[in-house]
Amino acid sequence: MAKDRLAGVLERYEAVIGLEIHTELTSLNSKMFCGCPVAFGGEPNTRVCPVCLGMPGALPVPNEAAVEATVLAGLALDCEIAPFSQFHRKQYFYPDMPKDYQISQYDLPFCGLGHLDIEVDGEGAKQRVDLDGGPYATRIGVTRIHLEEDTGKMVHVGGSEGRIAGADHSLVDFNRAGTPLMELVSEPDIRTPEEARRFAQKLRLIMLNLGVSDCSMEEGSMRVDGNVSIRLRGETELGTKTEIKNMNSFKALHDALAFEIVRQADVLDEGGRIVQETRHWDVTAKRTSALRSKEEAHDYRYFPEPDMVPFEFSAGWIDAIRARLPELPDARRERFMRDFGLSSADARTLSEDVEFAAFFEEAVALAGTPLAKPIANWMLGDFSAYLNAGTVALSDAKVTPAMLAELVQVIDAGTISGKQAKQVFTEMAETGDAPGAIIEIRGMKQVSDTGAIEAAVERVIIANPDEVASYRAGKTTLIGWFVGQVMREMRGQGNPSLVNEILVKKLG
Ligand SMILES: [Zn+2]
Repeated sequence: MAKDRLAGVLERYEAVIGLEIHTELTSLNSKMFCGCPVAFGGEPNTRVCPVCLGMPGALPVPNEAAVEATVLAGLALDCEIAPFSQFHRKQYFYPDMPKDYQISQYDLPFCGLGHLDIEVDGEGAKQRVDLDGGPYATRIGVTRIHLEEDTGKMVHVGGSEGRIAGADHSLVDFNRAGTPLMELVSEPDIRTPEEARRFAQKLRLIMLNLGVSDCSMEEGSMRVDGNVSIRLRGETELGTKTEIKNMNSFKALHDALAFEIVRQADVLDEGGRIVQETRHWDVTAKRTSALRSKEEAHDYRYFPEPDMVPFEFSAGWIDAIRARLPELPDARRERFMRDFGLSSADARTLSEDVEFAAFFEEAVALAGTPLAKPIANWMLGDFSAYLNAGTVALSDAKVTPAMLAELVQVIDAGTISGKQAKQVFTEMAETGDAPGAIIEIRGMKQVSDTGAIEAAVERVIIANPDEVASYRAGKTTLIGWFVGQVMREMRGQGNPSLVNEILVKKLG
């Protein structure tokens, strides 16, 4: 769908978007209410027990680490942590939920009233603030974060026409059932598909920094649903919303919301009404379609989970969790700008990814703070290009922080030129050899010994009396030609600025 279509709609209508983001706590060793391991895939129904299979009489025991991880996430998003909270049963019948209810949280979640600040450039900026397309920052409220158990997984198989996904029967795998699942609900503060994408991306970065989940949208350990409605600009009343499901990537999240905003505008423009319903994003057809009418909370008949006592967190316990908060991307970015003099954009790119940031800091620690800027340039330039070109993970790269530190040090010392450095980097990335070894083997050492340079300059001056005369007569543009001659004499290893300096002195 054309981007300008969305822009046109957003000139007349304001979109009101809220997100519900489920994150599986994949870094925990065990499921939410039993001791079964947490892992993706595997032989179906091999990581199950009477509790996660919902056998009669099996009793759930809450996973303490999952409760702590949820509170940690709440603190990372400046939430208030509830002094009193509890689990509820959410009743519904679906074959992926053997108990016929899901243990979740209802009106007493662990965390509420937080926020996440995002930066957005381009799309929608004009509608958002009085800016002309540049980046703008905006604060998105977090309504709540609660903990629940994940369901099993349905696999539709077979091939007759007209059934779900062309299948004629379904199988169910309970390996995933009971995996600790954290649900975040945002306030409807999001106004554009781009803001929604940024919110989800930044939340993912924070969860990765907290180390609670691998946040893989492909494997479903991070799942994003969106509620979207539109209203005419200036209107204060909310329009009827639809819920969009099956957005399995950040691009799908953006595209599905953009499609839905335009679809709703078309319905309203033709005098129609929006129906409150759940819609499914079809990534191939690039459209949403109605799935079912939306359930209301009372359909689920929530009631307090009778097999578990409520939680009462003490201030001391919450403080102990708070003390475990790692440095988050925003704080790291500010520190990189302050301590290393990096630009805001460079600091952001370097600080977002935990591993990338750690690599950078280790290299700076080895090379010294004054070389932080060139290290950042290598990481954001040649190194990133190398990783992206071969889709190499940082952890699999042959370049180590020590090698990058050594490279910027030899450039700084004038041992090799910038041009030679690029060759050294390429070879270092391919072979994993240290810069010193590569320079030695390739005989690349840049000569900064003034005696050797002076001797080469003398030889060039003696061999080219005509050019020397022209230069001395005023044709100073010949200097470049002289530098080339000396460099050839020195087999490309002369330090160019020293060569230039000595030539000017001898010719003058
Ligand atoms: Zn189990």
